[in-house]
Amino acid sequence: MALRQRYRFRAPSTGREVIIEAQPGHVYHDRDSGEELEVVAKLTPLAPSPSNLPWSIENLRHCPWCQQMAQIDLNDCPTCGRRMEPQTA
Ligand SMILES: [Zn+2]
Repeated sequence: MALRQRYRFRAPSTGREVIIEAQPGHVYHDRDSGEELEVVAKLTPLAPSPSNLPWSIENLRHCPWCQQMAQIDLNDCPTCGRRMEPQTA
């Protein structure tokens, strides 16, 4: 299964950043302001994991978007790349 290339986008007025599996030729807009998002960076896969936590049940939660497991110290889901809500213990 090939992963789509992920890009970090920023809304110019608010500075809010989102990660999108962008497709060539598409223009993406901020969902609140509607302004056009600018590309900040192209994300490269990190090996083996961006988290420092061991892959154990105490350190995992489910991504609310794709339901895959992710370490709780991550802000962005390693599977789908979407921002997860802050963990409230
Ligand atoms: Zn996910």
